[in-house]
Amino acid sequence: MTDSLPMRTDHCGTLRASDIGRRVSVCGWVARRREHGEHLAFIDLRDHTGLIQCVVDGAHDLRSEYVVRITGEVRSRPEGTRNDNLATGEVELGECEVEILNSAEPPPFQLDERVEVDEMVRLAHRYVDLRTDRMQRNLRVRAKVNGSLRRAMDDQGFVEIETPMLIASTPEGARDFVVPSRLSPGSFYALPQSPQLFKQLCMVGGIDRYYQIARCLRDEDLRADRQFEFMQLDAEASFVSQEEVLSFISVAVAAAVREVTGEELGDVPRMTWHEARERFGSDKPDTRFGMELIELTPVFAATEFNAFKASCIKGLRVEGGAEFTRSRLDDLTDRAKRWGAKGLVWMRVRADGELDSPVAKFLSADEIAGLVVTTGAVEGDLLLIVADERPAVCHVLGLLRLELGRPPVTEGGLQFLWVVDFPLFEALDDDNNPIPAHHPFTMPHADDVHLLDSADPQDFLKVRSQAYDLVLNGWELGSGSVRIHRGDIQKRMFSLLGITDDEAQEKFGFLLDAFRFGAPPHAGFAFGIDRLVALLAGEENIREVIAFPKTQSGHDPLTHAPSTIDPAQLEELGLRLLPVRKD
Ligand code: ASP
Repeated sequence: MTDSLPMRTDHCGTLRASDIGRRVSVCGWVARRREHGEHLAFIDLRDHTGLIQCVVDGAHDLRSEYVVRITGEVRSRPEGTRNDNLATGEVELGECEVEILNSAEPPPFQLDERVEVDEMVRLAHRYVDLRTDRMQRNLRVRAKVNGSLRRAMDDQGFVEIETPMLIASTPEGARDFVVPSRLSPGSFYALPQSPQLFKQLCMVGGIDRYYQIARCLRDEDLRADRQFEFMQLDAEASFVSQEEVLSFISVAVAAAVREVTGEELGDVPRMTWHEARERFGSDKPDTRFGMELIELTPVFAATEFNAFKASCIKGLRVEGGAEFTRSRLDDLTDRAKRWGAKGLVWMRVRADGELDSPVAKFLSADEIAGLVVTTGAVEGDLLLIVADERPAVCHVLGLLRLELGRPPVTEGGLQFLWVVDFPLFEALDDDNNPIPAHHPFTMPHADDVHLLDSADPQDFLKVRSQAYDLVLNGWELGSGSVRIHRGDIQKRMFSLLGITDDEAQEKFGFLLDAFRFGAPPHAGFAFGIDRLVALLAGEENIREVIAFPKTQSGHDPLTHAPSTIDPAQLEELGLRLLPVRKD
């Protein structure tokens, strides 16, 4: 160091006109160098707070991304050279002494927000990518969210408890990641899909209110909102009902929103699962926009048109959609079929109020009039109609609605929604065993418990559960439920799911055993922090808010995981590899 100042007295992005006249030392990376005549160069120095322009004697060998310390005097930029787009744009550092702390190879890509860089290149050099404003901002949003969630849970009397990573399998319905055991060759640990069973055991253990910012691992295909490993705010409480869970989770989410945006969340609206499906065709409705599903079954109750002789008919009204070309309509029809529809009927509303559609001639005048009145369609609109069983109709129209209306992530604000009264089962499997919609520890709705004893398996599908989801802008943020705390009901549930007593004992015996020793009524919730942070940061993909994510194919281009291991390591674990499958 060239003088008695500490290595750094200030941060680059914090210098203002009020600092003029001070001699400061800043440290960071050379973002840009512009020559100014033969002897002077302008250096933009970058740290995590932003940029400061430094006027430096041109003789220095300063290249992009060199790590330097610059000591200089804060002075006003000459008239006409101020930069209003930069927080430090009124000032610069003059009379600079430069100390090169480290040289750097030319960066693998330009660190400029305006330049689109291939994601593989970014991830392979994530340590450079992390220097960008975007990543600096996103990771700081993430840290704020974590901090505020922790404070909110602490303040509400929750105890932070860490549950183990090497466990027996948890039943969240995804594939486990497994870890071979060296000491018990042939045996495996599973990595937790969630801390579900442990948090329930904490309740049996009298912890009363538990939370954890928990890492969960699920071996599922990766998507924009899904990575193999993700973080969730996981919570459980004893002697509470659904109401209290919704309340303490709302408090935590509101704290995170306030911390990042400064805005108050207000009351989060609620919708039943049934209403969500009927109106939006989804159990995670994006309520930032309308284009709701319109019930048309009564309009076609007596139709002669075969394709509309179905138990459910619904439609979408796409304002201005009459302009869609034939090939766009064909494409939408193909998609609808891929999503499970038998077909998609489209109708353009013409200037004269007539419907332009290949099927119009099969409909009666009353049906056409009923259609126009029910949908409120006007000239220039497009109607899209699906007829089938109710779940299929809602599903397909729900996806079409998103396809045609979903705003970009940065528009429409933050629309949170509680979806309540989920069904206990989502379908029946080939053996008529119901498949749980949440996990098998979810308490049925008190009014529907009797249906579990019905001889008709279809009745099982009518059972509501005490399960609830939190949705934000069409993303499922998280779910939770009131749990079954009585061994007898839990056993009944397992038997309904086709899990024999022996299997139940083998997989979850420890939980069933624990329930015999005084399990309090309890309920809980968990929501994905990556998803919440992404939406708060205005990002479409959670990879943008994770320091070291995997690519879509599950690889880490930086560390090259997953990678092969040494034969000796395999030997020690008692493993032998089969030839790689080529499917
Ligand atoms: N364990 C559940 C999950 O990870 C959340 C819960 O029911 O608390 O989705």
